[in-house]
Amino acid sequence: MPSSGSVGGSVSGSVVVVNCGSSSVKLALVDPRTGERALSCLGERIGSPDAVVHMTTTSGGESTTRTINPAATTHRGALAHVLQRLLDLDLPPLVGVGHRVVQGGSVFRGSVRVDDRVLEQIHELSALAPLHNPANASGIEAARAVLPDLEHVAVFDTAFHQTMPEVNYRYAVPARWYEEFGVRRYGMHGTSHRFVSQRAAQILTDADGRDPGTLRTVVAHLGNGCSATAVLGGRSVDTTMGLTPLEGLVMGTRSGDLDPAVIELVADRTGESVTEIVRQLNSASGLLALSGLSNDVRTLSGKAAEGHAGARLALDVFVHRAAKHVAALTVSLGGLDALVLTGGIGENAVNVRSMLLGRLAHLGLVEDPAANADHGRGSTPAGRITAPGPGPLAMVVPTDEELLIARDTAALVRQH
Ligand code: ADP
Repeated sequence: MPSSGSVGGSVSGSVVVVNCGSSSVKLALVDPRTGERALSCLGERIGSPDAVVHMTTTSGGESTTRTINPAATTHRGALAHVLQRLLDLDLPPLVGVGHRVVQGGSVFRGSVRVDDRVLEQIHELSALAPLHNPANASGIEAARAVLPDLEHVAVFDTAFHQTMPEVNYRYAVPARWYEEFGVRRYGMHGTSHRFVSQRAAQILTDADGRDPGTLRTVVAHLGNGCSATAVLGGRSVDTTMGLTPLEGLVMGTRSGDLDPAVIELVADRTGESVTEIVRQLNSASGLLALSGLSNDVRTLSGKAAEGHAGARLALDVFVHRAAKHVAALTVSLGGLDALVLTGGIGENAVNVRSMLLGRLAHLGLVEDPAANADHGRGSTPAGRITAPGPGPLAMVVPTDEELLIARDTAALVRQH
């Protein structure tokens, strides 16, 4: 059984990083100094009788995966089951537990140690994120019950964007919606945007002596969920997601920006409820709907190359919307020094990056095809995929949200 690294005052060891979604649970044991994972777990169909958890342990470079059935029909039960199994393994000492929480509202501007009051506030914020915060909170409750001697830390997707000025977070809607219901833009993917913008700033400072305090960066996180953020001197000043992750870019299954009148039209024509229509905007739209084929860029790229019209259209709309938003975010920065691409698509899809840069040539971004094909790995500065020159550059920087959660957790445990 692993010992509790924080209890004796030492912070050497690993952090349990928990990401409890509405039907999935991800869990990893992350060394906050090296980013190494001694263990990672992915639970699927959580909440149903056929829930499964794939548990991979890595030791001496060798990985072993076993699949377990957490005989539990709740998040809480499934996570408790997995944590119990974890305690039986021969693992490094534990420093603390870091929890991903989607919505921190206007309350949380950074990561915090979890106490009963914080947990209550996370529950209260469920009004703004009914699909996410209840699952995040039940993950915290389960983990606190199984690991009561460890510090638990909440890391919010929204916190990085709390530096946005009011002009960028207000919707032009009746004041009561904002004042009483909290209807404003909060932004998401903050952990990824923070990790990637810090890493890009470090690369550019080391390679080019750029001043990180004035750096103007747009980070485009392109994965199944997609968002772009304007980062000025290390602070988020504008972002594409809003009250929920539905706003902004076209995503795997989410529509992104939409005329809200569409909802009334579809409700009138189909008799479906607003809840059902919003569910379809989240789960049956985006690349999947446009292509009529798949939400997966790898599949779509292959089919587009074979001439599939739907796949081509989906990629074109995806790229056009992304390019429009990147350009729009330069307004919040007053210019652009670096476009930073991350997420499964941003890190891997050479064709999508090439299409995106093609639509942003007027900003001075000129693709270096060889560097792009190599994901910028051989470039200076590291990750560069545009031609060298005096203008802005585009670069690929892999994200690691779990590592940032582990670092925040270790830092708060150390302070305590
Ligand atoms: P999530 O948001 O669920 O974490 P990811 O960041 O893993 O998702 O991104 C998933 C997307 O990345 C999918 O559209 C997938 O097709 C795309 N992707 C992953 N690997 C590649 C690759 N090698 N080439 C092209 N696209 C890829």
